[in-house]
Amino acid sequence: MNIDYNIGENIYKNWIVAETDFTSENSSKFETIFSLGNGYIGLRASTEEGAPGEVRGSYVAGLFDSFPGENTELPNIPDWTKIEIKLDGEIFSLCRGKILSYQRQLNMRDGELVRSIEWLSPSGKKTKLIFRRFVSMCDLNTAAIKVEIRPVNYAGIVEILSGIDGQITNSGVQHFKEGKFRRHKNGTVSITSRTQESNIGLAVAVKHIFPLNEDGSLPVEHVKTGRRQIFLSSRHKIEEGQTFSLEKLVSVCSSRDSEFRDHKFGKNENISDKELEKNTIKKLKKAVGLGYDRLFDDHKKKWNKIWGKSDIPIDGPDFDQLGIRFSIFHIHQMTPAHDERIGIAAKGLSGEGYKGHAFWDTEIFLLPVHIFTSPETAKKLLLYRYVTLLGARKKALENGFKGAMYSWESADTGVEETPKWGAVDIETGEQIRIWSGDLEIHITSDVVYSIWQYFQVTQDYDFMFRYGLEIMLDTSRFWASRLEYNKVKDNYEINDVMGPDEYSEHVDNNAFTNYMVKWQMEKTLKFTEWIIENKANVWTKVSTKLNFATDELDDWKEKAGKIYFAIDEDTGFIQQYEGFTDKKMINLSKYRGKVGAIMEDYSWEDVVHSQVLKQADVVMLLYLAGDDFSREIKKVNWDYYEPITLHDSSLSAGMHSIVAADMDDVEKGYEYFQESIRIDLGENMQSCDTGLHAASHGGNWQAVVNGFGGIRITGDGTLRVNPHLPKEWNSLQFNLTWRGTECHFDITKKELFLKPLSAITKPFCVEVDSKEYLLDNSEGLRISYR
Ligand code: BGC
Ligand code: BGC
Repeated sequence: MNIDYNIGENIYKNWIVAETDFTSENSSKFETIFSLGNGYIGLRASTEEGAPGEVRGSYVAGLFDSFPGENTELPNIPDWTKIEIKLDGEIFSLCRGKILSYQRQLNMRDGELVRSIEWLSPSGKKTKLIFRRFVSMCDLNTAAIKVEIRPVNYAGIVEILSGIDGQITNSGVQHFKEGKFRRHKNGTVSITSRTQESNIGLAVAVKHIFPLNEDGSLPVEHVKTGRRQIFLSSRHKIEEGQTFSLEKLVSVCSSRDSEFRDHKFGKNENISDKELEKNTIKKLKKAVGLGYDRLFDDHKKKWNKIWGKSDIPIDGPDFDQLGIRFSIFHIHQMTPAHDERIGIAAKGLSGEGYKGHAFWDTEIFLLPVHIFTSPETAKKLLLYRYVTLLGARKKALENGFKGAMYSWESADTGVEETPKWGAVDIETGEQIRIWSGDLEIHITSDVVYSIWQYFQVTQDYDFMFRYGLEIMLDTSRFWASRLEYNKVKDNYEINDVMGPDEYSEHVDNNAFTNYMVKWQMEKTLKFTEWIIENKANVWTKVSTKLNFATDELDDWKEKAGKIYFAIDEDTGFIQQYEGFTDKKMINLSKYRGKVGAIMEDYSWEDVVHSQVLKQADVVMLLYLAGDDFSREIKKVNWDYYEPITLHDSSLSAGMHSIVAADMDDVEKGYEYFQESIRIDLGENMQSCDTGLHAASHGGNWQAVVNGFGGIRITGDGTLRVNPHLPKEWNSLQFNLTWRGTECHFDITKKELFLKPLSAITKPFCVEVDSKEYLLDNSEGLRISYR
């Protein structure tokens, strides 16, 4: 085991994750968990010098391309992190010579990755090397590396070969054309290229900063080019015991960057390759003028500001503190808060998994974090669904429906991007058909759920009038056309779907889906009635745009009222879908805690026809619509489903943690939280090779704030706080913004202290233990709870 969670001291206590030893088998784990990003650039933590088994990667959010016959994906952009170091004739490599000491630290407080090594070369020369890097939170197009080299027992020459390597691919797929590579007057080198199919321009420019030669002259850098590569080589004197340092600054710009768009939500770029290159070099020049230390200083200050608002101090076990910070850190790194045309990828910007596509992970798992802490960012993320409405309308039309049907996997346009074929079935040898893109239609209601949550927390009417209402109407129109009338039962059904639990497919009347559809249609109807009465001009505009028929609302009302929901009136048991309990049982004990292990013994068909869940499904509903189900109903369903859920999706444990806390089983909730915060950060070295489990990090945040913190919005839009602190914690603190007022929550075992951090724009009520308290002054509220 080469991971250490307790390295941080003093102000860095519980802020640092460390790799204590270099092993190439674990390289992908660290490449992922140590990935850096700013919502625009994402960078895996592959080493500068390279190593066997590594998967190098850097990405630009929203920059998609597709290879003929394959789905759109986030291309791996030209690699600007490569640096070959030759120490007195010997190439520095962790696979050669001897590593005398090694440590790599992810410092989440400052947003920096630092690797320190003491290396003995094959010929016996000892060198200390420190590599630092960060991806700027202040200037999205900028990132920087600093290398410090100190010969311990020799003096000699260091040779540096460093530049940009465009030979990088996505598992073999080359997304960029050869492009143009240049060396500019001031020693900058750049590659400007376009993606093969989507024709998006990308420019990457780097410049090195070296110490001057002894005679005060600038070191000479010679150009070395190869196919899709441009490097610079240089030689420098190094003295025993003295530190030689090199900085490598980079600027990355794409023609799809917000600043080049042709209109508000426009995707088309207004920039030629030449201008793009010029612009990139201009940005780089600015960065070079500042240098690593000053750039880093600004970046660190920005992180400080972010943490000031979003840190969640926990007085409890160190790992809990570290774990929640790790989640918050990565959520900020992966969120494209700068551009409403981009969603959050299921792996963030940390790897190729799921091809950079956005799923319901964004709305149900990650958006609550932003809705409650950064409403401006939340709005942008919801606008992504507005921008991609065209794709959703296309999907509905192609499937023979009306309105807008969101895609299960979405990239830049919103059309369905889910691959149709997946891994090979071990029994049949055939590729497994992936049905999620065809059947996992609950995503459409999940988007509306999130819009409504945003509206409840922010009261952003303007957003609702301009965008929210249109989405709610057009998606409800889709549902009205998708519902199937059952004459015999006189109800409406939704057949042949896949619910959140992906170990079942082609099922009828999935409870989660049906419930959420009913919920969304009823909310839409109510909100629309209010609009018609109170905002006639808004209604005229939106209804004209959607060509709304006068009888449509009546039709929806009739249908929504009759959507089938299989709950047993006597026991409260909810059938996950029709016939679920008739399916066979499998003894699951062997497969718990080993993601996907069940597939080693059972064929896909077996799994699909058994009572085994990949992830929370009914339990998910018990959280999202928590107030609609009594504690008894929750318990009955938990007792049935929890034992047959394998949590083979990282989306599961966090949700189980919350529902357990809701049922006052805080111990179980804490167990699930422990499981959830270890999905990426834990000791399983292969858990996240292809990227972070973005949703699980949102799930962790929700487990803390909504689960143990007990934050919920009631049906009538009141903020409720019913804390359930685990016995391991003495206190929990966080900041949330409720209707424009930022508030600090300080929760101890018995008491809740709620203090406004900004002027109260409008006094509001908080419900604790079924009692309402008015927050109307800056002193705040101190409330004892049960
Ligand atoms: C996931 C689906 C996804 C599919 C294709 C599966 O592993 O569970 O949600 O759509 O991969 O990307
Ligand atoms: C899960 C889905 C999820 C997807 C992307 C799948 O394994 O089953 O619920 O949306 O991964 O994270």
